[in-house]
Amino acid sequence: MTVVGFAKPLSRPKRIGIPTLYRGVRFRSRLEARYAAFFDELDWPWEYEPVDADGYIPDFLLDFEPGILLFEVKGMREELDGARLKIEMSGWEHEAVVAPGKIEGTLIGSFLSRGQHVFDWDDAELFFCLNCGKVSVKPAGGNWRCRVCGCNPGGGNEHVGVFDPAEAWASSGNRVQWRAE
Ligand SMILES: [Zn+2]
Repeated sequence: MTVVGFAKPLSRPKRIGIPTLYRGVRFRSRLEARYAAFFDELDWPWEYEPVDADGYIPDFLLDFEPGILLFEVKGMREELDGARLKIEMSGWEHEAVVAPGKIEGTLIGSFLSRGQHVFDWDDAELFFCLNCGKVSVKPAGGNWRCRVCGCNPGGGNEHVGVFDPAEAWASSGNRVQWRAE
């Protein structure tokens, strides 16, 4: 039955995915659960679907000491543009990452940094922070500050080491493999 006159409640767009349980959290897709496991591999503090800004619910918030980072997961490459636009329209005032369906190499999608421009998108790059000893993320083209510990000695890149995510990504895949409901 169709009830005329009621606007549909705001909801997330339907996406193809197998609901997956990981650490007691029910994720909409195995990919999202895999990212949660990946964050655990990196020792990143994550929260799933935490805030509701004008009907827009981001996938994750990474609660780093120096500042929170919104983390959106997109399975399809063509969804990346839409995701970037949605973050811009939502009024989000902090930094953000829009990540693709799989991690290959150190680049993991797009990074929204807060600089001179209102919306400053660049490739997102994983690195090993030599200062805090953790895996961190930054825009590939500059602004070297470690988002995990906040360090940026001399404004340079002395703290930036190489991190290959292949092993952590593979093991996070294994951890969500058999947890579908
Ligand atoms: Zn650091």
